[in-house]
Amino acid sequence: MRTRSGRAWAAMAALCAALMMSFGFAPQATAAPAWPVMSNGSSGPDVGAAQYLLRSHGHDIAADGAFGPGTENATRAFQESKGYAADGVIGAETWPGLVVTVREGNSGDAVAAAQTVLNKHGYGLAVDGQFGPGTASAARSFQSEQGLEADGIVGPQTWQHLLGQGGSGGGDHSLPIARDALSRDHYGAPHHDYPALDLPVGTGTPVYAVDSGVANQINNDRCGLGYEVAADNGATYYFCHFSAHGVGSGTRVGPGAQLGLSGNTGNSTGPHLHIEIVAGGANRCPQPYLQAIYDGSNPPGVGDLPTSGCIE
Ligand SMILES: [Zn+2]
Repeated sequence: MRTRSGRAWAAMAALCAALMMSFGFAPQATAAPAWPVMSNGSSGPDVGAAQYLLRSHGHDIAADGAFGPGTENATRAFQESKGYAADGVIGAETWPGLVVTVREGNSGDAVAAAQTVLNKHGYGLAVDGQFGPGTASAARSFQSEQGLEADGIVGPQTWQHLLGQGGSGGGDHSLPIARDALSRDHYGAPHHDYPALDLPVGTGTPVYAVDSGVANQINNDRCGLGYEVAADNGATYYFCHFSAHGVGSGTRVGPGAQLGLSGNTGNSTGPHLHIEIVAGGANRCPQPYLQAIYDGSNPPGVGDLPTSGCIE
């Protein structure tokens, strides 16, 4: 009964939101988007920007777009220096202290951070840390597109719009397991029968959503406890053999959201995480996709992933 009333409430809330949108009185039309949340295993331009910003605060880390243990340690040190909760996760509390206002004439890592996120929105700037006329014009163009004052200064509000929205690439991705837990080779290992991937992790390891979408629980003989995530990119991701579910069915998850804990349930001969990516009606090889995320580069489109070549 609790579940039913919860669903009813969610349905009502969704209806209200839909009505508000159709009548055009959303609470704040110009409200800033939510800050992204990222942690060990996340990758993409927002991670690269966070790394440049950490550098600008004196933390000597690589700005490679892949959130690993070095970035996590730097994040904790930064959080401690600010009196924030030192959880190593960059979210709504950490971002406002991390961003640095930059404008034409400035140079350095904070400028490189701004250029990195402007490029996420398609501006194609050289990430050279020099805030010249090209970067200023990109900033003004982005601001006017967002209904912000087009002054070309990247301040807190512009940062939040730059970071909180996906841009053309659709936002960041996450590895399914913390980046330091497995090597790159693990993400390239062939599967034993059909296109899929088995990751050797012990029972109780946190498992994260790779891309944003809606998660539904699985509980059957084959997958055991797991999740089917209908992703916003059109693919369906399957995660199998968990020891515990972490989120309810119908939960909207972002990349890096914890789904549950890995385990050995279902048709499994030892603790591991099984992952499938289904796109265009076919099982795709997750290997090139996850290795790109591991590398901090943009993964190929899910529909372009191969359907063979990842079976041993
Ligand atoms: Zn498998």
